[in-house]
Amino acid sequence: MKILVINCGSSSIKYRVFQTAEPGGLQSLAGGAVNGLGRPDAVLEHQSRERESRTALNRPDHRRALEAIMNVLTDHAHGGDLWDASEIGLVGHRAVHGGDRFAGAVFVDGDVIAGMQKCIPLAPVHNPANLEGIRQAMNMLPRAGHVAVFDTAFHQTLPQRAYMYGLPYDLYEKHGIRKYGFHGTSCGYVAVRAAEVAGRELSRSKSVIFHLGNGVTVAAVKNGRSVDTSLGLTPLEGAMMGTRCGDLDPGVVLYLLRELNLSREQVERMLNHDSGILGVSGRGNDMRRIIGLAHQGDHRCKLALEMYVYRLKKYMGAYAAAMGGIDLVAFAGGVGENSPLIRKMILDGMGFLGIDLDLARNEEAGAEDCILGSDVSRVDVVLVHTKEELMIAREALALAKRNPGRTGGDE
Ligand code: ADP
Repeated sequence: MKILVINCGSSSIKYRVFQTAEPGGLQSLAGGAVNGLGRPDAVLEHQSRERESRTALNRPDHRRALEAIMNVLTDHAHGGDLWDASEIGLVGHRAVHGGDRFAGAVFVDGDVIAGMQKCIPLAPVHNPANLEGIRQAMNMLPRAGHVAVFDTAFHQTLPQRAYMYGLPYDLYEKHGIRKYGFHGTSCGYVAVRAAEVAGRELSRSKSVIFHLGNGVTVAAVKNGRSVDTSLGLTPLEGAMMGTRCGDLDPGVVLYLLRELNLSREQVERMLNHDSGILGVSGRGNDMRRIIGLAHQGDHRCKLALEMYVYRLKKYMGAYAAAMGGIDLVAFAGGVGENSPLIRKMILDGMGFLGIDLDLARNEEAGAEDCILGSDVSRVDVVLVHTKEELMIAREALALAKRNPGRTGGDE
């Protein structure tokens, strides 16, 4: 059977097609992305083993972008990866916010769509885009089983003491205001894979996962279950990120509203898009550039790096306390996978926790998942290349196996 994974955002759609392979494996056949939805210079970039292509699209909406994706997948003149769209038996959809309604992957039906709609106030940009992608894909592939895999689901195991805010209890009961966490699909994959690379039993490990991309999640995973995580009700809490502020005295928001007379929209924009590494450095949010400028002596870039790292170090201490120790640290995401410098800065001075980075392994790490800790390190330090799309396909397939008869597909 072939499985299509779709990650539908507000400005882009990423996709990948997998073929099931015995025993229980999944092989990636092709994938790509449409970037610039709604723009005149949007482009569909497609890669498979035999070919790569770029297709210009003029102001595509979600429907037209998905149509273009299906066209390129079945383009026989150029070595199409599928003979026909009906070969797709399952579609796995990345869904950002499932609130506390969804603790695992689910087949999409009217109730699930209604549940996702109820979560729109929690993710006003992401959930409508996810829903639009689901609607269009269901129209286009009516015989396939459609599965929603939620970014928040992995963190539904947090104990109540970890997910509550110190606010009036009513706000939690009546409005669902609590920590949910995000990047759950990535954290779930990385936790499993890191334990595998380290040769540890996941069910008996205390792991800290650093998912360091433009967005950042630090997660405490004890015995395979997420017990704390840095992002909150929204993806603004926690570590300092590319353009998001991370932890902040809520009084700052009140001050901005009261003393600077900023509107709610202005504050929302500032905290989400003009803060973090970009806000402090004034030089953008591309970590490679910030590191380069810091080396050249740019004070604000250096400061942004120091703040970024300092906050991540504090999370490690906090999560060591929360779990009663750490025996595995894993790095993933664009920064975590590619920056030996940031990994070294985060782990510098962490010997008191039993962490000893092997500097050569750290520098030489490349495309393979690998161990970065020294042979005497009591804590395993592991680099994992996160594969959210593979994890979504796995979850969709596992659900389909538990519910035979819910998939389509000709093969
Ligand atoms: P997203 O959260 O958007 O999925 P990614 O996981 O792709 O983000 O990570 C993007 C970040 O990774 C960018 O800030 C980019 O600068 C950073 N990055 C990529 N390669 C490197 C590198 N070699 N060194 C430092 N940072 C890197």
